Amino acid sequence: MTDPETLPVVIVGAGFSGLGMAIRLKQAGIHDFAILERASRVGGTWRENTYPGCACDVPSLLYSFSFAPNPNWSRIYSPASEIQAYLLRLVRNYDLERHIRFDSDLRGGRWNDSRGCWELATNHGPLNATVVISATGPLIEPSIPTLPGLDSFTGTVFHSSRWNHDHNLKGRQIAVIGTGASAIQFIPAVQRRAKHMTLFQRTAPWVLPKLDRSTGLLQREFLRRVPPLNHLLRGGVSAVAETYGLGLYVDQRLLLPMEALGRRHLRREVPDPELRHKLQPNFRLGCKRTLFSNTYYRALTRANVSVVTETIREVHANAIVTQDGTEHEVDTIVFGTGFKIPSGPAIERLLGRDGQTVLGNRASADIEAHLGTTFAGFPNLFMIVGPNTGLGHNSLLHMIESQIAYVRDAIKTMRALDLGAVEVSREAQRRSNRYIQRHSQNTVWLRGGCESWYLNADGKNTSLWPRSTFSYRWRTRRFDTDNYHLRPVSARVQRG
Ligand code: NAP
Repeated sequence: MTDPETLPVVIVGAGFSGLGMAIRLKQAGIHDFAILERASRVGGTWRENTYPGCACDVPSLLYSFSFAPNPNWSRIYSPASEIQAYLLRLVRNYDLERHIRFDSDLRGGRWNDSRGCWELATNHGPLNATVVISATGPLIEPSIPTLPGLDSFTGTVFHSSRWNHDHNLKGRQIAVIGTGASAIQFIPAVQRRAKHMTLFQRTAPWVLPKLDRSTGLLQREFLRRVPPLNHLLRGGVSAVAETYGLGLYVDQRLLLPMEALGRRHLRREVPDPELRHKLQPNFRLGCKRTLFSNTYYRALTRANVSVVTETIREVHANAIVTQDGTEHEVDTIVFGTGFKIPSGPAIERLLGRDGQTVLGNRASADIEAHLGTTFAGFPNLFMIVGPNTGLGHNSLLHMIESQIAYVRDAIKTMRALDLGAVEVSREAQRRSNRYIQRHSQNTVWLRGGCESWYLNADGKNTSLWPRSTFSYRWRTRRFDTDNYHLRPVSARVQRG
């Protein structure tokens, strides 16, 4: 039997993180890597989410890499199709296709300590890698509530991230379950097409007006011709976002003006006091993701819409029944119910030095890492958008870029010092998490009076970075070898 192929670096996932990582490796002269992509196209979440109205909910200026800015966004908040087109352009412009192995699914893997490599299992057979970079993104696997009787429903059912474009919504009686970031984007389109739309709302979100408009030819031309302008504007928009962040993690009184804006938006858009009452959030702004829309509230005021706040009891062949016994007749159910957390399938299938997964015997959703990127017991494994690298106030791309720089520096350090393996020490990982948990205590996510996917079942923040994006960039500005066990090529890992 021939030995499996061995690659110096394997990136898993060809979304924003994986493609950005690949570009920065190439720019550092590192070309001996492959990207495993389980689909047949790049794009990750922007490939998967095609629901009507899908758009970026952070300003587009912040939604391209700083090393590959996009002056061409057509709107302040660009539609998903433009983001996907940007990613396809990156593949073309940086000649990434030759590195991508499409339809390649990472099924599992284990660290081989004596050989100093990851032994991976893919649908195309075994593959060895010295370094593995998980770039699969945190929101992949749809979360569909287990509603009694759902199997007996005779209509059409789908989740927002698996939109059924073959199912014509025109004239249908549609149930939408969920009122999160995805749902508020597709609800206006569903309402326009439906005969009747019943929205099942468990929690009323904060919805603020969206300062959206077409960017205009002149602005685009300026940004194309004067690239520094792009960086300047990015800096300005990012500074505004960071100011909002202070309200989330320093002093919640700073959120009061935005809460007033949210209440005014609701008052202006929803004249009916009964409906307005249902839509009034009962927690601090920012505790869950703050949403922006100029069309969501308005859609809910239309005659063909009912907003139901009763809990769902069960599903019948052609109806959803709520706890008060009311039968809501529907022929289509659209779940806007978010994603399983954590749902990083690649990382959960890898066994470290002790034969355990990153979760070990801890409960699901209690994953910890050093700077959200590396795991004690898992040499040469890096995770982009790992635990506590999400944001409630700014563009995730800022965090992704910080992580990419950190991982690139780690690989460069390994090569410069002739290291076969690097493994973060347990103490450094503990310190990193103590810092995160200490700074999480007074945040709106823990104190704002809501339940959100940012926290695990024990109320611990496992998702968000509780400080500014600058502080994260500072901490990841270089690969901190003093926090790592360093193993020269052809030696065993020193444990500590
Ligand atoms: P989400 O924010 O988790 O929202 C899920 C919604 O479903 C919530 O309203 C939730 O209610 C409701 N829900 C869940 N289970 C339910 C049940 N059993 N019965 C009734 N309602 C139920 O999911 P999402 O909207 O898909 O967004 C997920 C994340 O994706 C966002 O936080 C954001 O990070 C990202 N996203 C980003 C963009 C972008 O433009 N960048 C766009 C969309 C999404 P509760 O509030 O009561 O839990």
